[in-house]
Amino acid sequence: MGGVPRNSANRREGAAPRDSADARKGAERLLAAIRDARRAVAFTGAGVSTISGIRDFRGPGGLYGEMDAEKIFGREQFDLDPSLFYKLAGPFVYSFGEKEPSVAHVALAELEARGLLRAVITQNIDMLHQKAGSRNVIELHGSPAMHHCLRCAGVRVGYEEAARVVRAGGMPLCPECGRALKPAITFFGERLPAGALREATGESQEADLMLVLGTSLAVYPAASMPDHALSRGGRVVIANNMPTHLDSRAAMRFGELAPLFEALRDLLRG
Ligand code: ZN
Repeated sequence: MGGVPRNSANRREGAAPRDSADARKGAERLLAAIRDARRAVAFTGAGVSTISGIRDFRGPGGLYGEMDAEKIFGREQFDLDPSLFYKLAGPFVYSFGEKEPSVAHVALAELEARGLLRAVITQNIDMLHQKAGSRNVIELHGSPAMHHCLRCAGVRVGYEEAARVVRAGGMPLCPECGRALKPAITFFGERLPAGALREATGESQEADLMLVLGTSLAVYPAASMPDHALSRGGRVVIANNMPTHLDSRAAMRFGELAPLFEALRDLLRG
């Protein structure tokens, strides 16, 4: 950390919710900003899902080491031998269906339902925003909701069907050519899905408030979304348990997500 205090951002803003009264005050400020916004969007990362029991597979302390994740989720490796992905990432990716949305997923879905949140742009591949009820979800790194054949156009196999095969120790295969199907997750070495990237960039540029939640803003180009918001005069609110490079430009800065969003959900339902 190079001598930078880990929670310097929180201390500067004095906003790390330490007890429920602090969390409630923070949530009140956050909700007021959301209600004041003309066009609010959320940009989410692993932190909204780690509180659902999904491990962050990237980075230090992740499910795999940095090197291994890049190999297991690497396009080059998948082309060489897709069985490595299904064997090593299978237990992770194909258990998403058993996970429940976190309080952050749920509160974001409720904000959208009340017309207070325009879109959720996510770096996550676990489909939990949709499970929580969010409708306008832009998945910058794709998801395993669909599987395609890299050779045969038009072959599509859904998550549950693929998950059954993987849980039984196999790989979903193309009914036309017999090759292993690839989940529509953006692998290392692949470009982000063009449509999602375009849509996310547009939403970010038009947003006058962006909630940056559970991401350390380390994975590009996804992490440039808050920059798009800031560049057009939008305000950025950051809630993350680690510092980010945009902390000094944030209109509000919070630490842990769970207490903040529990308080926010209570306010919404109050
Ligand atoms: Zn095929």
